Amino acid sequence: MQNRTIAAISTPLGEGGIGIIRISGPDAISIAEKIFRAKSGKKIGEQKGYTALFGNAVDGDENIDTAVCLIFRAPHSFTGEDTVEISVHSGRFVIKRVLRAAISAGADSAAPGEFTKRAFLNGKLDLTQAEGIMSLIAAEGEGQFRLASGAVSGKISKEIAATEEKLVSAAASIAYFADEPDEILPELNTENFGAMLLSCEQSLKDMLSSYDAGKVIREGIDTAIVGKPNVGKSTLMNLLVGSTRSIVTDVAGTTRDIIEDTVRVGEITLRLSDTAGIHKTDDIVETVGVNLAKSKIDEAELILAVFDSTAPLDNDDKRLIEQIKDKKTIVIINKSDIGGSLNAEDFGGLPTVTVSAKTGTGKAELTAAIEKLTNVCFLNPDSAVLGSERQRDCAVRALSAVTAARDALIMGETIDAVGVCVDDALAALFELTGKRATNVVTDEVFKKFCVGK
Ligand code: GDP
Repeated sequence: MQNRTIAAISTPLGEGGIGIIRISGPDAISIAEKIFRAKSGKKIGEQKGYTALFGNAVDGDENIDTAVCLIFRAPHSFTGEDTVEISVHSGRFVIKRVLRAAISAGADSAAPGEFTKRAFLNGKLDLTQAEGIMSLIAAEGEGQFRLASGAVSGKISKEIAATEEKLVSAAASIAYFADEPDEILPELNTENFGAMLLSCEQSLKDMLSSYDAGKVIREGIDTAIVGKPNVGKSTLMNLLVGSTRSIVTDVAGTTRDIIEDTVRVGEITLRLSDTAGIHKTDDIVETVGVNLAKSKIDEAELILAVFDSTAPLDNDDKRLIEQIKDKKTIVIINKSDIGGSLNAEDFGGLPTVTVSAKTGTGKAELTAAIEKLTNVCFLNPDSAVLGSERQRDCAVRALSAVTAARDALIMGETIDAVGVCVDDALAALFELTGKRATNVVTDEVFKKFCVGK
């Protein structure tokens, strides 16, 4: 338990119907009593948890606003501590006045994420759930929401706990065997132990395999729209963005630098850049744009390569195909409304979609192709999907330790040597869920939160 009592505004600062000041810690009740007066004359300190009082938020003798006060008694609150939430009208000045009154009454300003950190420290949630809360707050679409709410409900923790349990049980048997070397423990024979380690390996591999697709949903993907001048890159970008952001003209080479935008395609956010057409040019300004486009190809995680289906491939097109063939690429055969001289076989096995950027035909097929190439369409919404680079890093370390344990077992090394690898795997999993994470790790997680969460 923390001995500081903290307070913060827990709703977005701005005009709104209601704004909430949250106070949590051992003195939450007594501090709230100083800044809230119930109409009924009842005292907050005499109320049970999960009750509400109506009255006024006050600063000394001054009345600030009418207010509702919600009372939570430890350990039955989000943080696990005594907590009071005071709701007033949400105006920047009003709500800051109430916060200032709480601080004058003895509360400390909460640090970013401090409420959630206290919930973690008091065993209310683990690190994967805390990170899930952060993603839930940031979720902007169905896909992001589903992944985040899975994490908050403990899906990742549950999946990890199953692996952890098997390894803890193995570590216990190894410790027992060290004391009683004559005892025969069937769970430690090569066949049984090996099968158990293999199942742990598989579960960690399954979790890791869905990470990249989950990341695409959570964070989006850097996408470059490339192709020769006039093939329809800007028109395609406008189709995806849904407005006329890029300049569309009939004069080749009009998009001279990189235009960037963010767009939702199905479940995925594309961070789009429409680049200057890639072709040989003597125009100095255009050359800068063309060079930028080339470096964008190197940096982008997804390439949408546009080709004009009204003309056969020329040398510029072929050079571009050569440049993108090993990248995550979708070939867009554009101008299907008037074209017809290009087809999928011209692109050496790269995935192709035929569209008309002008009329919008083929947009659904393009969405499906992007979801397929990024594996998003294969993501099982009911599975546990790792939610951060930190979690992935822990899972990778756990997997490599479990693999090392199985290798050691198969090579006939001592059971102690296998046990060292099992301990390493457990340490990585404990760090993942936060059971045994260092302060550095937990501070790193919670500093990404905003004040009030
Ligand atoms: P960019 O240079 O590759 O960005 O090409 P633009 O998007 O500026 O398009 C060049 C020209 O092709 C413009 O006149 C567009 O209206 C036209 N265009 C682009 N896409 C299509 C399409 O799908 N069908 C037809 N008919 N014209 C298109």
